[in-house]
Amino acid sequence: MVRAISAKTLLASVRQPDPWFGLKYNMNLYRGCQHGCIYCDTRSECYGIDDLDDVAVKINALQLLQQELPRKRVKGVIGYGSMNDCYQPLEAELCLMRGALEIIARHGFPVHILTKSDLVLRDLDLLRQISRTYAAVSLTVTTADDALAGKVEPGAPPPSARLAAIGQLSREGILSGAMLMPVLPFIEDSLENVLGVVHGVHRAGGRYIVAAFGMTLRDRQREYYYGQLDRWFPGLSQRYRQRYGERYSAAANGAHQLESAFRDECSRLGIATRMPLYEPLAAVQHRLL
Ligand code: SF4
Repeated sequence: MVRAISAKTLLASVRQPDPWFGLKYNMNLYRGCQHGCIYCDTRSECYGIDDLDDVAVKINALQLLQQELPRKRVKGVIGYGSMNDCYQPLEAELCLMRGALEIIARHGFPVHILTKSDLVLRDLDLLRQISRTYAAVSLTVTTADDALAGKVEPGAPPPSARLAAIGQLSREGILSGAMLMPVLPFIEDSLENVLGVVHGVHRAGGRYIVAAFGMTLRDRQREYYYGQLDRWFPGLSQRYRQRYGERYSAAANGAHQLESAFRDECSRLGIATRMPLYEPLAAVQHRLL
């Protein structure tokens, strides 16, 4: 289901320094997400989204952005992609993200986009423009196996398309890489799976992979996830219950060994394991003096 809502504000300031993506602002054009990943944390009760598939479109988002952006004194990185995917299928028709990027390009703000969709390639022209300031595009790839992704990320384009997008963005000179997170215990936490992602990103020409070896589990999100495990991986929810109980943080099996093998392989292939962050011109000049 899709419905229109009117938002009061759009750009939220990120209060704490963000060491992962260097974000200063965050914005959501949609509420809910058509990608329907079985592990999606947005189903947690604290976010107040009863049904992730019930997508609300912020119809006044571009007007709000037009008003709010010129008032921001600090030209910090604007982030997309928390709690919904800004390139979910609806975006192909609505072009809200494209409109937002046009406004951002006009005002010279840097951006970081996190997505699971190669629809981001539609906006290459704008990303090229924004990358004169700073544009980074991270594609989430939790497995290089298209068939497995079809079970755990059923509404998103397959990882082969995401890796191809990393390739095209990189060839166009736009900073691009992958987020390897979550790594689902008993499903994606094999060395073969992790290295499969590393090699796929390397072949595509991606600059970085940021990884976290495990997942989070809580209330409604956990319930939904276990239901999907029963559907696709019979018997597995029982193993999760025994291993993780009520714990929020569910580490992958052999997380430390996996992380160490991941880092070794990335270092051998020259892939960064942190995202190169935006540095305002003043900071760069200061370093050079
Ligand atoms: S793409 Fe992200 S926000 Fe959308 S369902 Fe998947 S995990 Fe959730």
